[in-house]
Amino acid sequence: MDSRVGVAVAAAVAVVGPGRPPAVGITPPPTYRFASMRKLFSAVFAAILLLIWSAPAFADEPEYPEYTGEEFQALYEFAVANTLPNLDAPNGLYQITGDEELDDRIWTLAFERGYVLRPTATGDLGRADGVNMQPQAADAWRALKTEARSVGMGFVVSSAYRSPQAQRTQFLTKLQGTSDKAIDLALTWYSVPGTSKHHGGYALDFRYRSGTFGEFRSTKDYAWLQEDNFAIPKTYGLIPSYPDDVASQGPNPEPWEFVWVGTGLVQCGLPQSFVSVPGPASAVLSDIEKCPGGMGLVEPPPWLGNP
Ligand SMILES: [Zn+2]
Repeated sequence: MDSRVGVAVAAAVAVVGPGRPPAVGITPPPTYRFASMRKLFSAVFAAILLLIWSAPAFADEPEYPEYTGEEFQALYEFAVANTLPNLDAPNGLYQITGDEELDDRIWTLAFERGYVLRPTATGDLGRADGVNMQPQAADAWRALKTEARSVGMGFVVSSAYRSPQAQRTQFLTKLQGTSDKAIDLALTWYSVPGTSKHHGGYALDFRYRSGTFGEFRSTKDYAWLQEDNFAIPKTYGLIPSYPDDVASQGPNPEPWEFVWVGTGLVQCGLPQSFVSVPGPASAVLSDIEKCPGGMGLVEPPPWLGNP
């Protein structure tokens, strides 16, 4: 037991005292019972005060700062540029429809929405729930899943790593026409090949096995995940991928998608000098020593962001 908790308990016992049990067979007079109650109340009051005083003793667990949507985005950009292993630079602009003019228009509209080129996974991928993903993401998911199941949450990972080729196929099935309106509608939810965070293998899509992504926001599982600024996913190094309060991040906000950036980065935030990367990057540095990037100026790789 922590020493301060011990002090609190000992103090409470001291106030209550060993007690003065009435003699067997004799009902104590009402005044005695009243005095006992008063003693009990003051003991409980003292114990509560002491427990409040000793509360910091329970704060040994690592603390995770609160982040805005833009700061979550900045954490991911920082991780991609500096700390996430097994990533390769993007290959440039992929062919999408085969019609050069239409592809140009799609790319223009995609960049206008805030899509950026994303790196692709290299090396051996891990696997969890029958889905390929980076090994660190797989470990995080298994740990999160154990906690989720222990409190009755049944969501699964339905998608993680996706190649640009698979992304192209998916995008084409969602593109219903060649007008700007049709293109923008597809871009609302579907990345063009080369711009999906799934290419890196650190992005996970959650949903019920029988449910759709659209339904996920209104599930108790999502309520559990987003509670207290995503407190539970953060303890596994997972953060929201397309948070609610961010404009122009490519697709509309996606409550079902999370990305692994590692617990160290989530704990420390970003160096203040990390400002030269496309997208929002103004997260707060809370603990310099813990930061993988330290306080030095972070040079993002030239391929990060739009060409
Ligand atoms: Zn996704």
